[in-house]
Amino acid sequence: MKELPGASLQKACRLLVIFCVLHLLAVVLYCLAGSTLSFQWSLEAAAPRGPAPSRKDPAAPAPNASKPDASCPEPSPHLVGPLRVEFSLTVDLKKVAEDNPEVREGGRYAPKECRALQKVALIIPFRNRDEHLKYWLYYLHPILQRQQLDYGIYVINQGGEATFNRAKLLNIGFTEALKEYDYDCFVFSDVDLIPMDDRNIYKCYSQPRHLSVSMDKFGFRLPYNQYFGGVSALSKEQFQKINGFPNNYWGWGGEDDDIYNRIVFKGMRISRPDAAIGKCRMIRHSRDNKNEPNPQRFNKIAHTRETMNSDGLNTLKYTVERTEKFPLYTKITVDIGSPKS
Ligand code: BGC
Repeated sequence: MKELPGASLQKACRLLVIFCVLHLLAVVLYCLAGSTLSFQWSLEAAAPRGPAPSRKDPAAPAPNASKPDASCPEPSPHLVGPLRVEFSLTVDLKKVAEDNPEVREGGRYAPKECRALQKVALIIPFRNRDEHLKYWLYYLHPILQRQQLDYGIYVINQGGEATFNRAKLLNIGFTEALKEYDYDCFVFSDVDLIPMDDRNIYKCYSQPRHLSVSMDKFGFRLPYNQYFGGVSALSKEQFQKINGFPNNYWGWGGEDDDIYNRIVFKGMRISRPDAAIGKCRMIRHSRDNKNEPNPQRFNKIAHTRETMNSDGLNTLKYTVERTEKFPLYTKITVDIGSPKS
């Protein structure tokens, strides 16, 4: 039977509609696949990573593959920017060590693909904060490797029951780290502070550097302009120029203000990253025993100019009780005396 002209037109229209629907479906599927990929990418960029890619990793950039003696590039090509930092996960240090296979005993690392620009000792004043230390190691080892630093981690543990003395422990860290390796830069970090951006490079600059400039505890801003607490970096020369840190601030507070004064009185100034790159997170905790606010701190800060040359590296006295080499850090337990001794 012969088809009517209207019927073939209807058939053509139906085919066109089916084609359009298929086309639309294809476009929708394509878009969905694209957004999933970019979502995955942004999550990966935010999450903490494992160690800096080594040359065993085929995807890793090897900037100086042909010249392993060449200096590492600046900035490091491994940096990823903002990081997600949280403290609800459980950290297993054995697993952290497995995830960072290039970290050597005692918490030492140097990039294989190039010569690090600086040799950095990271000094952590410590007492009874093992849970915080786990987070610090979990987050910092991958960051420091991505920053391509030649580094070592030194946890300076105050033995005994005397009042805590942060600055003296930092002086000891400086002295003990130098006995082990020719470090040229010292980063002094509280154990509960984690950077939220790996572009905040834990290295030294031409002026003493304040690194923890934008802490969640202070609403991501400096509590005051002279604030130098939390995490700071001084080159060996800068540290020696100010006679190190004070030894006689027992208890909480003031020692960082004294260090700020020392820097300024020696004609230097503080350098800082910008507030976005300098963001960091603090692990919430209650005040430690034997670290009450030091009531003498205001009086002491007022006299830094007179005291700084006779209290510091040149008067540092302590005894090393124990040095322990763990896979991810070196722990040095010290007897630092007490306020009266
Ligand atoms: C203390 C510092 C402390 C700062 C922020 C000051 O009053 O002297 O040691 O870092 O407050 O908490």
